[in-house]
Amino acid sequence: MNDHDYEDRRNCDTGRCGRARRRIGADLSSETRDRRGGEDKASGNSGLMRPTPLSYRPGGESTTIGRLMEREGIFPEIKEAAEEGKPILGTCAGMVLLAKEGDEEVAKTGQPLLGLMDVKVKRNAFGRQRESFEVLLKMSIFEETFHAVFIRAPAITQAAENVEILATFDEHVVAAKQGNIIALSFHPELTEDRRFHHYFIDLCK
Ligand code: GLN
Repeated sequence: MNDHDYEDRRNCDTGRCGRARRRIGADLSSETRDRRGGEDKASGNSGLMRPTPLSYRPGGESTTIGRLMEREGIFPEIKEAAEEGKPILGTCAGMVLLAKEGDEEVAKTGQPLLGLMDVKVKRNAFGRQRESFEVLLKMSIFEETFHAVFIRAPAITQAAENVEILATFDEHVVAAKQGNIIALSFHPELTEDRRFHHYFIDLCK
């Protein structure tokens, strides 16, 4: 047993997760449509990143997201945003995309990575979809534990010295920060706790 408070390690409530993801997905897709006005035909870039003060890489399927981002020309825009110091958050599949290096699964699919964090990730570090779980996680940035929902989650298995570890679980790093970039293995958008969102938005000020 480690120092984490276990609340519940049974399968995630897929009904609730599914509904929340659909709700957030709908919000994000209407924002995305609104922002696509800046498409740059000559460079092939999407123009998606230019007007945004921050960037959020959501969960999902990192292979698919990576390929779509590459096809849409979003990769160089995110790299540029990172260089400009814009805060970037990657949750779950987003963590995989932010990493410099992946595990053998990542190598097998040949999925493109942004390579913005000096970390190595394991794609499905806690097992398959049905091994998804929820815990009360101790995070260095909050006094009280954080209700963290892990869905077929990845984890950081190696991190350079310039990477700040924000939380570990089962000997894996599940939250980390490198300058303006944050990677989480879990989904803070699936609970009512807004502490992490406030923390991230404060980085933009
Ligand atoms: N493990 C998945 C992947 O590598 C991510 C799962 C998630 O984002 N919920 O794509």
